[in-house]
Amino acid sequence: MELLKQKILLEGTVLNEKVLKVDSFLNHQLDPVLTMQIGAEFARRFEDCTVDKILTIESSGIAVALATAVKLNVPLVFARKKRSLLMSEEAYTTEVYSYTKQETNHITVLKKFLPAGEKVLIIDDFLASGAAASGLAVLARQAGCEITGIGIVIEKSFQGGAAKLRQAGYRVESLVRIGSLKDGKVTFL
Ligand code: 5GP
Repeated sequence: MELLKQKILLEGTVLNEKVLKVDSFLNHQLDPVLTMQIGAEFARRFEDCTVDKILTIESSGIAVALATAVKLNVPLVFARKKRSLLMSEEAYTTEVYSYTKQETNHITVLKKFLPAGEKVLIIDDFLASGAAASGLAVLARQAGCEITGIGIVIEKSFQGGAAKLRQAGYRVESLVRIGSLKDGKVTFL
């Protein structure tokens, strides 16, 4: 997605060889117009599939997942990273390690929001090692849902998660693919 590449080049900061900061439009402040364009692009890429529901993870996945859900006219559910006292009902849960936060979260979705048999599209902001997307796929499989595909805004291809998910048979659609963050520079594939 050319517009997204330009935005990353213009506003992204390479923190180190592994981490890209894009907090001016994706991870802290949001660019609403670009967010809606991202949603439209995911909807276009998965237009040949049946999607009953979008599944994402809080917090940065929610905006782009919502934009996609609006375009596809389907509900959206987001996995929570911390179980709240309000979540007393039965839930699906799995562990996800976040290396940007250096912590393990038990991600959770209430069972009532993932009925068996639904076709689920997973959406997230970044794909690095694949832990977050794999965790979401585990929740969907626990629920007996079918995974239509995985839509990623920024794939850091050099970190192996995308290759692992594709090898496992998932259709991964990434809007931009980064081959390297070496020398403080973003190099797209
Ligand atoms: P993974 O689970 O695939 O290793 O990493 C994906 C998750 O970690 C995403 O949900 C995202 O929140 C975070 N993440 C991974 N790499 C980056 C990065 O370079 N920049 C930012 N802002 N977040 C990242």
